[in-house]
Amino acid sequence: MKLPYIIITDDDIQVLRAIQRDIRNQYRDEYKVAATESAIEALEVVKELKLKNETVALFISDQRMPEMEGVAFLEQANEIFPDAKKVLLTAYSDIDAAIKAINTVKLDYYLLKPWHPPEEKLFPVINDLLDEWQALYKPDREATRIIGFQWSQKSHRLKEFLSGNLVPYIWMDVENDPEAEKYLVSANVSKSDLPLVILKDGSYVKDPSLPDVAERVGLHQKATKEMYDVLIIGAGPAGLAASVYGSCEGLKTLLIERSNPGGQASSSARIENYLGFPNGLSGAELSRRAITQTLRFGTEILTPQEVKNITIKDGYKITQMQDDSEIHSKTIVIATGVAYKKLEIDGLENFTGAGVYYGAASVEALACRNESIYIVGGGNSACQAAMYMSKFAKEVNILIRRDALSQVAANYLVENISRTPNIHVIIHTDVIACSGSSVLENITLKNTITGEEKTVPAKALFVYIGTKPGTAWLNDLVLKDEKGFILSGSDLLKDKSLNTLWKLKRDPFMPETSVPGIFASGDVRFGAMTGISAAVGEGSMAIRFVRKYLQEM
Ligand SMILES: Cc1cc2nc3c(=O)[nH]c(=O)nc-3n(C[C@H](O)[C@H](O)[C@H](O)COP(=O)(O)OP(=O)(O)OC[C@H]3O[C@@H](n4cnc5c(N)ncnc54)[C@H](O)[C@@H]3O)c2cc1C
Repeated sequence: MKLPYIIITDDDIQVLRAIQRDIRNQYRDEYKVAATESAIEALEVVKELKLKNETVALFISDQRMPEMEGVAFLEQANEIFPDAKKVLLTAYSDIDAAIKAINTVKLDYYLLKPWHPPEEKLFPVINDLLDEWQALYKPDREATRIIGFQWSQKSHRLKEFLSGNLVPYIWMDVENDPEAEKYLVSANVSKSDLPLVILKDGSYVKDPSLPDVAERVGLHQKATKEMYDVLIIGAGPAGLAASVYGSCEGLKTLLIERSNPGGQASSSARIENYLGFPNGLSGAELSRRAITQTLRFGTEILTPQEVKNITIKDGYKITQMQDDSEIHSKTIVIATGVAYKKLEIDGLENFTGAGVYYGAASVEALACRNESIYIVGGGNSACQAAMYMSKFAKEVNILIRRDALSQVAANYLVENISRTPNIHVIIHTDVIACSGSSVLENITLKNTITGEEKTVPAKALFVYIGTKPGTAWLNDLVLKDEKGFILSGSDLLKDKSLNTLWKLKRDPFMPETSVPGIFASGDVRFGAMTGISAAVGEGSMAIRFVRKYLQEM
């Protein structure tokens, strides 16, 4: 297998030698290292590698170089290897240039000279960047392949599931990729059997269910222990954070997710308000980091597995799955967040996954290249999706009922959108009908003021019209508000029915529900702040109270 490259450039020969030595010693088994004394020379190397079909994982460039500054070099190198990570080597006096470069060249890191000891200041950063690069890198021959029809619901579910579970795959559209046909012939599979999933070892499965694919790519659906200290339902930011803290504190921790870890956050194309990531990061990347972290501490993850009920026996909690298996635990953290509301239009459900998507912008982005697409709703999630899709689609139309986007979305997003020429905001508008043979082809829009209707071609409709709590599965075991959000802590004290339910001498802990030892965290909790940081905070905090409860038991 070809090893990917790390390219280093610095005109100061002493510095170049030092960093080349450190990088080579640490990474020589997995990467080739090329070092040059000038940025011009480095660019020549980069072009040559491209022609030879080689890959670059990381560029490390000094900022101050006489022929070309580091930022300019990274900008040009980025055009040739856009996925490679970029590190700028800077002196303290160049920090301003480095911070600007975060936006102009999407710099991944600026490394202050000197970086000694490298074990503390260099390798952790480079490891992190290379892990991130590896997660998205799909070496041509080694990834799982999905072959199917672009606008098929089944193909969409598979792509979404694998990408959400960080399983790299190569997507092959049977109608547009001549290579796809060759695989069908080799596997003796007809188009009516699609989608076809071909595993890394060459085995394949026709039109598989998600659990079947999960099993084959090494994801687990059965718990291994008789009893867990804490069982967490939902692997959004709240559930993932709870699992990290649970395992890290030595609790036997099980995390259950019905689709893919990351929750709503995983569909965010760019999160800009998460502490410590000044150049933003995608939801998929945040999820990848969290999954890696929680697995490292020893959390068991079951996916796809959906919880359908909870019962209590002698204070122990019994969690029942859709496949009727049961898992026992001492405590439970419910972190099932919220789910998108469906757009209520006759016949629209026929196109879900076949032109109509709920929060799946990043998965379907490439398929929308040069197309006109529509986004329903104008909140922050809708705006983020619009910004992301504007890089691929010919035009992105945001449909809102109100007068202006500024009434519903954050300022920075409204400004970004107004500066993006291929995004149009269409106000006072509802979608009232849709049509298409097997996939979505047209939608009908209605102006809510004038009543005027028009039908327009639409390749894709992304729906972001609000959410409802993910508690439809939960019986009446815990108290909820009238919308279905779970009551906890002091909010429970206002509910008169608590007196008959709560038998302990103490009041419920802050995230504790009306059942001792069952906690709620994140968006699903009544009164939660919502947002990624808040969910992470709530998930982490729940574990503190889980421990208190365990001490009481
Ligand atoms: C497109 C988009 C962009 C966003 N961007 C930002 C942003 O930039 N910054 C920000 O702060 N916030 C953002 N948000 C909001 C943020 O993502 C949420 O507030 C956050 O994800 C809530 O986390 P959570 O863990 O409480 O729930 P969720 O993220 O909703 O996760 C809940 C999880 O539980 C699982 N689940 C539900 N029921 C079951 C069941 N019965 N069994 C098993 N599993 C189940 C779900 O599949 C899901 O994975 C965005 C939201 C969206 C939709």
